[in-house]
Amino acid sequence: MPHDGNDHDEGSALPDIELRVRTLESLLVEKGYVDPEALDVLIETYEDNVGPRNGAKVVARAWVDPDYRALLFENAGEALAQFGFGGRQGEHMMALENTPETHNMVVCTLCSCYPWPVLGLPPVWYKSPPYRAKAVIDPRGVLQDFGVTLPENTGIKVWDSTSEMRFLVIPMRPDGTEGWDEARLAALVTRDSMIGTGLPLKPNEVSP
Ligand code: FE
Repeated sequence: MPHDGNDHDEGSALPDIELRVRTLESLLVEKGYVDPEALDVLIETYEDNVGPRNGAKVVARAWVDPDYRALLFENAGEALAQFGFGGRQGEHMMALENTPETHNMVVCTLCSCYPWPVLGLPPVWYKSPPYRAKAVIDPRGVLQDFGVTLPENTGIKVWDSTSEMRFLVIPMRPDGTEGWDEARLAALVTRDSMIGTGLPLKPNEVSP
């Protein structure tokens, strides 16, 4: 599948664009228009907070509402639209269901295709060649790198995102969360659990 659709942010022109962005950034910093630390905070906010919080709301609803869950796996675009999540880098979405038998992991082997509307900006490691290569060859090893060990009999499915199809992993609902409302459940949903390189937090891992 192509990774160079016209809405796509990377490709063969990347080094040139990267160079221009860096030049622009250093000029702005040099002239005192922007503070590099403020830029870092801004980027981190989108990588770690704003974006993934959207996906977490979707996962939490899928955990409590069977009709929503069914729609999510049947027509993810429609299910996400109920939250108003859509648009650039999220046009063609598919939700992947983690079960005791199957764990899903998402990678973009060619560049960095990623579902922006639900997860925000991709983390640096997602774009790195080592992750992109190892996810395909040794997904269990990748999970180990992230501190996750799955049962031996859980199979791992790796999905290669492209500009035509992007994925959101729906992790399994943690035990001990019976009766929790969506907001409380969403706080358990980590960014990495929706990429498939992590698991949701357990109830005892969040502050009450
Ligand atoms: Fe890509």
